[in-house]
Parts: sequence; structure tokens; C-alpha cells
Amino acid sequence: MKVLVVNSGSSSIKYRLFDMTDESLLAKGLVERIGISGSLITHYPTGKDIMKKEIDIPDHRRGIELVVDALLNNNHGVIKDISEISAVGHRVVHGGEKYSGSVLINQDIMETLNKYIELAPLHNPPNILGIKVCQELLPDTPQVGVFDTAFHQTIPEKAYLYGLPYHYYEKYGVRKYGFHGTSHKYVAIKAAEMLGKELEELKVITCHLGNGSSLTAVKNGKSIDTSLGFGTISGVIMGTRCGDVDPAVIPFLMKKEGLNSEEMNNILYKKSGFIGLSEGISSDKRDLEEKASKGDKKAKRALDVLHYGLKKYIGAYTAVMNGLDVLVFTAGIGENSPKLRKNVCADLTCFGIEIDDNKNNNAKGSKTVISTDNSKVKVMVIPTNEELMIARDTMEICSKLK
Ligand code: ADP
Repeated sequence: MKVLVVNSGSSSIKYRLFDMTDESLLAKGLVERIGISGSLITHYPTGKDIMKKEIDIPDHRRGIELVVDALLNNNHGVIKDISEISAVGHRVVHGGEKYSGSVLINQDIMETLNKYIELAPLHNPPNILGIKVCQELLPDTPQVGVFDTAFHQTIPEKAYLYGLPYHYYEKYGVRKYGFHGTSHKYVAIKAAEMLGKELEELKVITCHLGNGSSLTAVKNGKSIDTSLGFGTISGVIMGTRCGDVDPAVIPFLMKKEGLNSEEMNNILYKKSGFIGLSEGISSDKRDLEEKASKGDKKAKRALDVLHYGLKKYIGAYTAVMNGLDVLVFTAGIGENSPKLRKNVCADLTCFGIEIDDNKNNNAKGSKTVISTDNSKVKVMVIPTNEELMIARDTMEICSKLK
């Protein structure tokens, strides 16, 4: 069974084709700059030459057509006929409170996803568009929606409610939803596998640190708290997002600077975090690390705030789980920055966290334990694979159809 995984964003489409008989990756690729000049598709077929094509891609329909063409291409293709794709799994950012697992897409579900656009105005519309185009181009192929929010639906009321008038929750669904759920779930499962234990018996903190970042407390296999919330800006600072801020700051700044809500949102989502605290140096962690190593105070300041925030969340989540067995680092920063892992884990010996510098510095590209043999908590670096998780869910749902 071959499963195509589609992650359709506002101006890009990421895709992967898996052969689920052995979970091998047949091809992956990226369609970029949809609807803007310089659009292109880059296709990486396993065991064959890369194909890169700069071509006008006015919309998502054309983008997905090009993905299908690339998969079928005589030289760079990996399938002979479109019917070889048994199912398509779609990443959908927001599944609201309705979906605690992945679902086979039907008309009712499309209507619900449309309703959730107001909760995820930037993400859900291109996700929905990706589903629609795949339905058109592959009308007989089942489509499955896998939600970033689903894994966090086990978070208890005491953790998902904000201290606001309750009727805002009832009326508008104002609560913590959490994101990156597919990644948190994947690495938590992998961590348990690495230990040879059941996830249900473990207390795990997963740190997904990329351009967007979140930490999750996974107790006995369930997400019980996570650092992103109603939107995708709370928790630790990110590339351009502010992380936790006293809400009093927002009306204060709006008044002082004469900002409307859209302008304020733009500051919180696009002009804060690394880029804001470093006064414009970069939203990319690598650039900040390089500058900070040469003594740049602005870069160091942004990194200090990140490391401090991560420590605080690790402490808080250890407290709410009454202990910790495993701490996992994943995603672009988590997987690739030994400096960050060292800084965050320094002085956490009170929790039984102790990393081995050598193991930490050499952890690259594959799942590794980086804690010392004596460390009470196992600290791990585990590359995330959200796409494989989506393919697994898709296969599971579709295998029940026949
Ligand atoms: P996204 O959330 O867009 O999927 P990624 O998971 O790819 O993002 O993470 C991007 C982040 O990872 C960037 O801040 C980048 O600087 C950081 N990163 C990637 N490689 C390294 C590295 N070697 N050292 C430090 N940070 C890195």
C-alpha cells in the first residue's frame, strides 16, 4: 500500500510518498512560491536523481498536478500509474475539539474544517484547499485528515481552560488546543521504543523546537499539557513569535503605538521572538548562535530568553507529572543544536537530568541517548517524522475500509 502525504501551506506544498509495506520512503519533495514569482518544484526520488523545475505555479491545483507528474515521471518517477497511490494523508493544523484522532474525509468533515477556519485562519484554508485539489485529481482515492491538535485532546479541563469568563469558552471555543501533536506523539512513541518500555508507563517531556516550538508533558501515553495554546504564539519564544507575554502588555502597546488588532497580531507573530529580541539579527537559531559565539550581546540575549523559558517549562511539566523519565529534543533546533541542549540541561541535576557532553556533541541525524549513564532521566535526541506518522494513521484508517 502506497500512501501520499500532503502538507499544504499557504504558498508551499510538502509531500512524501511511502511504501507502507516496510514504511520506506519512495519520494519526497517541495512545491514552493505558489502564486508568486520564482515558483518551483524540487523532487527527491529515493535512489534516483533529484529533479528541480522552475515553472509557473499559479495555484495549489497546478502544484499538486506537478507533484503527481513528478511521481509518474519517466526518469525521476517512482510509480507507473496514479492508481498505485492507495490513500492520501493530509496534515490539517486545527481539528478543534471535535477530533481526537485522524479521520476519513467526507463532506461533513469538510464542513467542520471550514468552521475551524476562524480558529486557524492562516493554516486551515491552505490545508482544506490541498484536500479539495487531491479529491479532484484522485477522485477514487480515500483522503485522511491528521490533525496537529488531535494528540492534545486528552489535556484535562484544568490545563486547557484560561482564567477568562467561562462563557468565552462556551461561545467561541477560547481554550488551549496545542499544536505539533503529530510530532510530539511520534517522538514520545519512539522514546518508549528506545527504552524498551511501554509509553503508558512513562512520564515524558517532548521539546519540539523548530521555527515554531512547543513542549508537551506526556504522561502514561497521553498529552496532559502543552505550551502552545489557542493560537500558535504562547510558550517559549520562537523564530518570530513572542511566546508567553503578560496579556496586560497587549492593550498597553496598542494604545501607546496606536495599533489595531491586525497590526498587534503581526508584531506578536512576525516581529517578536528571536528576530524581535535580537533587534533584527535573524529569526534563524543558527545565525544567533554564530553571532553569540563572537560575543554579540543582542543574539545572546535572545538565546538566554529561550534557554530560560525552556528550563521553566521542563520544571513545570516535571511538577505536573510528579516526576520525569524521559526528556526528548526534536525538530530543527532540538535535533541540531548541542549548544541549546547543553544550556537547557545545565543545572537541572535537581530533577535528575545530566547530559554527557561527548554524546550530546555527537548526536546527529539519528535517535540517540545523550544523558550520562547515571542520569535518572534519559535525555534523548529523536529526529521527528510527522509525515510517517500521518502515513501510518492514513493506512490504519484505510485498511479498515475494505
Ligand atoms: P519548521 O518549524 O519550519 O519545520 P525546522 O524544524 O526545520 O522548522 O527548524 C528550523 C530551525 O532549526 C531554525 O531556527 C534553524 O536555525 C534551526 N537549526 C537547523 N539546523 C541547526 C543547527 N545546526 N544549529 C542550530 N540550529 C539549527
